Amino acid sequence: MFVGRKAVLATMHQKERAIAPILEPALGMQIVVPQGFNTDEFGTFTRDVERKGDQRQTARQKAIAAMNWMGADLAIASEGSFVPHPVLPILPCNRELVMLIDRANGLEIVGEVISTETNFASRSVSCFEEAKAFALKVGFPDHGLIARANPNSTQLIKGITTLEELKESIEKLLEPTLETIYLETDMRAMYNPTRMRIIAQATQDLLQKINRLCPRCSTPGFEVAELKRGLPCNFCQTPTMLVFSHRYQCQKCGFAEEIFYPQGARSADPSHCPSCNP
Ligand SMILES: [Zn+2]
Ligand SMILES: [Zn+2]
Repeated sequence: MFVGRKAVLATMHQKERAIAPILEPALGMQIVVPQGFNTDEFGTFTRDVERKGDQRQTARQKAIAAMNWMGADLAIASEGSFVPHPVLPILPCNRELVMLIDRANGLEIVGEVISTETNFASRSVSCFEEAKAFALKVGFPDHGLIARANPNSTQLIKGITTLEELKESIEKLLEPTLETIYLETDMRAMYNPTRMRIIAQATQDLLQKINRLCPRCSTPGFEVAELKRGLPCNFCQTPTMLVFSHRYQCQKCGFAEEIFYPQGARSADPSHCPSCNP
């Protein structure tokens, strides 16, 4: 379905380095990066431009804008966010989403990874020595830094990757009345090899989903469209919050299949039961 087609990748942060080596050989498509296409208008990590929708909506907007820009009918877009860990909020997580939109076949397929592997961090510093200590902790200089006068300041020095640049930035910002400046990790993909790796993992997830074909019409992306909770407690049969079934559905012909007990177990431990363990 994708062999020989051009797919526009909506990025200006070199994400093709993570995405193209996975999708091009596997699907036979050619990934092209549009020149002069500005993805920053859809929101940035540095908070100078706010995101307008959620992560999935933003990726979709980027993909559609890139297709329109290039007059293409196939696009890939990726969107990342940094959120607190659901159980241990002190731990930051990187959620990466890689989306394929095929306008010719009416498909939207999404790969996703949530990882605790990230250097996402920030800190106020009062001198170069403090800045250097922070920098080395977050994987500098392979990972870039951003400096600004304070967390809300819109004047940024981005993409700092040498100690000289770091020193100059601090001297520039500390003058004349400030006691501290604010440093943060640059999360743009080309300044952040850790994030680039997670984008590659999300691309692998996308590829797996593309390769799951509809049993009836062989359209790619036969994916979980609905998740039902309510796996029964093995002591009293009360439905729990654990997953009972996954409903897969084809985006083209609508064929659906419900897979029960996707996690293997046919009942839940009473520790998950609202009746046995309220
Ligand atoms: Zn189908
Ligand atoms: Zn129970």
